[in-house]
Amino acid sequence: MERVRAKKQLGQHFLKDESIARRIAESLSNLSHQLLEIGPGMGVLTKYLIDNKNYDFRVIEIDSESVDYLHTYYPTLNIIEGDFLRMDLPQTFDNKLSIIGNFPYNISSQILFKVYDHRDMVVEVVGMFQKEVAERVAAHPGSKTYGILSVLLSAYYDIEYLFTVDEHVFNPPPKVKSAVIRLQRNGVQHLDCDEQLLLRVVKTGFNQRRKTLRNALKALGMSLDHVPENLLSQRAEQLSVEQFIEITNTLSAV
Ligand code: SAH
Repeated sequence: MERVRAKKQLGQHFLKDESIARRIAESLSNLSHQLLEIGPGMGVLTKYLIDNKNYDFRVIEIDSESVDYLHTYYPTLNIIEGDFLRMDLPQTFDNKLSIIGNFPYNISSQILFKVYDHRDMVVEVVGMFQKEVAERVAAHPGSKTYGILSVLLSAYYDIEYLFTVDEHVFNPPPKVKSAVIRLQRNGVQHLDCDEQLLLRVVKTGFNQRRKTLRNALKALGMSLDHVPENLLSQRAEQLSVEQFIEITNTLSAV
C-alpha cells in the first residue's frame, strides 16, 4: 500500500505505444551533443535514443525499481539515480544540453521553470506534458491558457505544439490527454530590461489575471504613473513579452 501511494506521487504513466515513443525521439533536432532524458521509467523512449552516436546520452530517474530495470535491460546506459529538480545541471554537463522525456506530470511546471533558469545551457526540449500544460506553454497572447510560463519561455524559445496523445496509450491511463511540444532556443541572449523585475511584473500580473494590470500590479507597491495607459487597461493574458518588457522599463525608470 505504501509502495503504491509512493509510486503514485512519481507521476508514473508508462507509454505503451511504440510508434509514439519513436515519434517523440524523432522530434529532436540536432542542436546539442548532450542529451538528458528525464524519467525514463522502463525505457520505452530510451531505446530510440540510446544508439544515436551524435549525443552523449544520459538519463535521470528517481524510482529505484525503474533504475534496477534499466541497469538490467540497458547495461550500457548512463543512468543517474535521482531527482531532476535537485540536479545541478552546470555541474553535470558542460554547456549545451537538450532535454527529452515523457515527463512526470506532477512536476511539469517545475521542470519548465528549471529550463527557463538554465536557458543559457538548455538549447532544446522535446517533451510530453499533460495537454493543458502543453497548450499553456505554446499559447499566444489573448488566449485563455496564456500564462507566466508562456510569456517567460517564449522570450527565449521558439515553441511548437507538435501532437496530441490519447490517454489510452499509457499504463495506467492518466485522467487527461497529453501532448508533445518542442522548445528550441532562439538567438536572444538578454532581454532589454531588468529581468528580475520582469519576472515579478509577469508573476504579479498573472496572480490576478482577471483584473486589469492597473489593479493587479498595485501589489508590486511601485508607482504605475509612467506606465502607458493602453497597457494598464489590459489584463496580463493580453500582453506580449515585449509589452511586459515595456512596463518593466517604465517601472525601472522611476
Ligand atoms: N518515460 C517513461 C516513463 C514516464 S512516467 C514512459 O514513457 O513510459 C514518468 C517517469 O518519471 C517515471 O518513471 C517516474 O519514476 C519518473 N520521475 C518522477 N519524478 C521524477 C524526478 N523528480 N526526477 C526524475 N525522474 C522522475
